[in-house]
Amino acid sequence: LLSADGVLRPTIFAEMSALALRTGAINLGQGFPDEDGPAPVLEAARAAIAGGANQYPPGIGIPELRAAIVEHQQRFYGLNVDPDAEVLVTAGATEAIAATILALCEPGDEVVTLEPFYDSYAATIALAGARHVTVPLRAPDFRLEPDDIRAAVTDRTRIILVNSPHNPTGTVVGREVLQVVVELAHEHDALIVTDEVYEHLTFGVEHVPIATLPGARDRTITISSGGKTFSTTGWKVGWVVAPPALTKAILTVKQFLTYVNAAPFQPAIAVGLRLPDEYFRDAAETLGRKRDILSTGLRRAGFRVSNPDGSYFVIADAAPLGFTDADDLCRRLPELAGVVGVPLGAFVREEHREGYRSLVRFAFCKRIDVLERAAAQLAGLR
Ligand code: PMP
Ligand code: GLN
Repeated sequence: LLSADGVLRPTIFAEMSALALRTGAINLGQGFPDEDGPAPVLEAARAAIAGGANQYPPGIGIPELRAAIVEHQQRFYGLNVDPDAEVLVTAGATEAIAATILALCEPGDEVVTLEPFYDSYAATIALAGARHVTVPLRAPDFRLEPDDIRAAVTDRTRIILVNSPHNPTGTVVGREVLQVVVELAHEHDALIVTDEVYEHLTFGVEHVPIATLPGARDRTITISSGGKTFSTTGWKVGWVVAPPALTKAILTVKQFLTYVNAAPFQPAIAVGLRLPDEYFRDAAETLGRKRDILSTGLRRAGFRVSNPDGSYFVIADAAPLGFTDADDLCRRLPELAGVVGVPLGAFVREEHREGYRSLVRFAFCKRIDVLERAAAQLAGLR
């Protein structure tokens, strides 16, 4: 039934990683780092396992991690959060997104997201029986235009789901445009869900958590994760920060999705969230250099390349090289250049693909030597 509209299908990330594995190509498709994160975080997980943190933790998350999330929101954003009523630990941001949408939407409610969108949004909106309404981020610079959001939000809107820094385009939405989102949420009595998993990965621009804006906090559900910040995408430790009644509703659903999660990884992510400011600064700087290396390589290879302000991803237009169909190019790219990328169309509804046909998303969260090798191989496409 649900697969009829094509939303619930094998994810593009599994498909592209399988292609990379099968062909031995460099995987710039799925966004995961190829190096381990900070040693104290890894050591804390080993110590937690040795210390017996191997059984069900509390459903809302261990007190130590909830306290660390609260300290992090205070330290970086000046937000005051109640660790017992306003924080919920989840199995990655993925579960946080699913539990939030399932908890807060009735069938027929509208959920507004940016488009291109992270694939799990469309799937969980479909699972909730809600309607997915999208706001376009248009090539070549993928900026969010206030008039486009205004056109999408109505009294039928239950949730405005913002994602900044944005996957797949790397757009970082600025304060003024976020304020428009808050105003629209008030005007139409909608909730704001904000996916901030790349909150620490911006390059010279400020990440503004929407919950810090005037009038936002009481209607905002903030979602993040330790995966990107600490290069631990396989640990699946995420969280929700939201007002008490909303947190409780989301917990009610979470109980029946995973019940609890990640006993030994929760204390380790708490250690990560308490690392000194320099860790967060260095992580962003290192990733920014990687963005530059891959972007330069892609440009030399003949692609037209976007200039992402955050996230793991850069968008490359293959049209100048004569490739107008990115789906077809990505299927052949392992054989042509020994590299895997993801067609941007995978993040866009079928009926909206036209403006994105020749675009490919490449991940730059990889070792510098790997990015340089990928760039050299892609140079052979000309
Ligand atoms: N949201 C966005 C925008 C993402 O890019 C990702 C990870 N790729 C997720 C959510 C899922 O995060 P997690 O791995 O913590 O479930
Ligand atoms: N967030 C990562 C990406 O966009 C991985 C997602 C996944 O594997 N589900 O590539």
